[in-house]
Amino acid sequence: MQSTWTGGAAALLTIDLKALCVNYRAIARQVAPAQAAAVVKADAYGLGADRVAPALAAAGCRNFFVAHLSEAVALRPLLPEDARLFILNGLMPGAEDLCAEAGAIPVLNGLDQARAWVALCKARGQRLPAVLQVDSGMSRLGLAAADIDTLLREIDLERDFDLTLVMSHLACGDEPEHDANPDQLARFEALTARLPRAPRSFANSGGSFLTPAFGFDLVRPGVSLYGVAPHAGLPSPIQPVVRLEARIIQVRSIPAGQGVGYGLTYAPDKPARIATIGVGYADGWPRHLSNRGAAYYGNTRLPIAGRVSMDSMTLDVTALPEGTLTYGDTVELIGPHQPLEAVAADAGTIAYEILTSLGHRYARVWIGE
Ligand SMILES: *Cc1c(COP(=O)(O)O)cnc(C)c1O
Repeated sequence: MQSTWTGGAAALLTIDLKALCVNYRAIARQVAPAQAAAVVKADAYGLGADRVAPALAAAGCRNFFVAHLSEAVALRPLLPEDARLFILNGLMPGAEDLCAEAGAIPVLNGLDQARAWVALCKARGQRLPAVLQVDSGMSRLGLAAADIDTLLREIDLERDFDLTLVMSHLACGDEPEHDANPDQLARFEALTARLPRAPRSFANSGGSFLTPAFGFDLVRPGVSLYGVAPHAGLPSPIQPVVRLEARIIQVRSIPAGQGVGYGLTYAPDKPARIATIGVGYADGWPRHLSNRGAAYYGNTRLPIAGRVSMDSMTLDVTALPEGTLTYGDTVELIGPHQPLEAVAADAGTIAYEILTSLGHRYARVWIGE
């Protein structure tokens, strides 16, 4: 594995495209006969959309969701011609032509976006495809019930553009027992009953593993493709995709009471051994993990000693016999001993944020193609 640490990198991020595709197929099986799309926004949750999206296309995925037009522009040439690329945030004012030129399908989240798309279709004399999002209760994006009245008065949804999908988004899909899930489901059914018949999409990763009623025609999983269980603590077929390892830069012995790192916030009352690795908050390793997170060497937990710096952090390796770890040796930051979810929990955040913050100074390898 040493040869994969390209450019003398201090840390190695390994992204398992085979596990990614196993997860895609597991979700597709779970929701059949509904289809499974893939949400590849934010550079495929930090894992490299240019590698992830083509791998998913090869696994049979034909529907991809990004958040921004710029993401769609970058991804379009990498996808098969019959793949559809949807923009969740929809249209920014004046971006209608660019969106059409990019061959992307906007999600129309409100009356203004719908009007702008209809105007573009009229100007071009084309019935261009678009998605309508309705707000089923999250109050973030989508047409409210009153907006639907206005929409139906102003726009001929059968003729003014090509309504390819009607969608909404769950606020609590990751909490299977939450009352908001059946409430949102009922509201989605009621709102879509007022619109022309079109395929419907409702579930994210969590929603894909609720009851079959949440599947509709197309599900939109993101985080579970990338290895995060849809419902924390419950069994699932989802496999880890990401592994992060760092190499030891230096190991030192310190006397009792000697402080470590900025602010000298770690000062053990016994002599200790401290190892420094070249991963810091500029690499997306949360500074909140100062004096609370850890790395692993085999089964041994190596607590983060002191504050996480910008480009490095220090580990207390006293639990290992002296000489076990030396210059160039490898410790695990994300992997079988410390899953992504555990790092997120220690940092007081969610796996999404750890993933989308993963640094660009790591050597990155994509395996299992
Ligand atoms: C991000 C997003 C998803 C994917 O959600 P996950 O929880 O990562 O599965 C699906 N739909 C919408 C509208 C989103 O914004």
